Amino acid sequence: MPSMNSNIGNVGRGFASFMTPAPEGVVRFTVGQPDFRTPEAIVEAAKSALDAGEHGYTRSQGNEEVCNAVAKHLTKYDIHVDANDVVVSPGCKQSLLYAMMTCLNPGDEVILFAPAWPSYEGMLKLIGAVPVHVPVKRENYHPDMAATRAAITSKTKAILLNSPNNPTGAVYLPSEIEELTAIAAENDLWIFDDMIYSDLVYGEHKYTSPVTFEGGKERTLTIGGWSKIWAMTGWRLGWITGPAGVMEGVKTCQASSATHIPAFLMGAGAVALGLENEPKEFLEEFTKRREIFHGLVEEIPGISAPKPEGAFYILADITATGMDDIEFATRALEEASVHVIPGSLMPGGEGLIRMSYGTSVEQIREGCKRLKNWLQD
Ligand code: PLP
Repeated sequence: MPSMNSNIGNVGRGFASFMTPAPEGVVRFTVGQPDFRTPEAIVEAAKSALDAGEHGYTRSQGNEEVCNAVAKHLTKYDIHVDANDVVVSPGCKQSLLYAMMTCLNPGDEVILFAPAWPSYEGMLKLIGAVPVHVPVKRENYHPDMAATRAAITSKTKAILLNSPNNPTGAVYLPSEIEELTAIAAENDLWIFDDMIYSDLVYGEHKYTSPVTFEGGKERTLTIGGWSKIWAMTGWRLGWITGPAGVMEGVKTCQASSATHIPAFLMGAGAVALGLENEPKEFLEEFTKRREIFHGLVEEIPGISAPKPEGAFYILADITATGMDDIEFATRALEEASVHVIPGSLMPGGEGLIRMSYGTSVEQIREGCKRLKNWLQD
């Protein structure tokens, strides 16, 4: 066999080893996707587009309808962009990769708040950039500003933000976003703002964009998508926007690879962004699950977690059980039939487990009961 890219073996696949479908009867707290069906109006829009013959190539960045819809949607967070500076890609992940390909050179360092969603590390390694994991504060999973400043070197090129956060469930305060924006401005860094969970917030402070602070607009790439808020994980739709100059690079990435998202999904994406009721209903359901799940987790011996402020994950400390997180996750599956993600799959996540509440209240109750009985024994 000819030789391969010598880097590819180092990239890793994040949670993949703990994501394989578990045997029947296992309660799965592993999967990071809502268990809701995509709203009917979106499905109908895609079907009609197919019936209407939208089968061919079209505008690479996305048609005007979907780009306008994204620009309009973002105004709700006080993000004001020209629709011409919006690219709709095959998923938020693809948009993140475009951002990195456009802004980074091999060897450039990017600050991640640890534990960070592992795909960031994989993407950075794919393009030869270097993830720098800065631990968040253990008590509430919010960023540690002194540690962030200390991690910056002459090679640092970007800070990656994700608030509401996967895996921690933290939603950063406006004052924290402001300070991180100032740190980026002082050091002339890009900010990659992954806002995919932006509407899934339960506390008083909402998602805040760095572009709303001085020095933020000219250095922030705002990246999001349809997967979580509209229950559209399998549709593979994401967006990215930022300063016009850098968006030219992003357009080059898309034109040189995916070309565009499926033409018949563009209108459906626009329809989703105009929906009022379903995203609200999904949020109400997540709010209920978060209350129940966190309450039950607190009753399990040896496990504790801050109450999630956003997204749909509980990141719990299991060190008081005397097990490390890999042993915990392995034995929880074998002895209690509950599937969780061990935190040490992410640098900085040692001693933690991630549990998703993208599953029903019934499953949440059953899974917590099993964990409680198992640990009591
Ligand atoms: N960003 C974060 C923080 C995520 O947790 C996920 C999915 O788990 C994604 C991006 C992926 O988004 P998409 O499905 O649009 O690629």
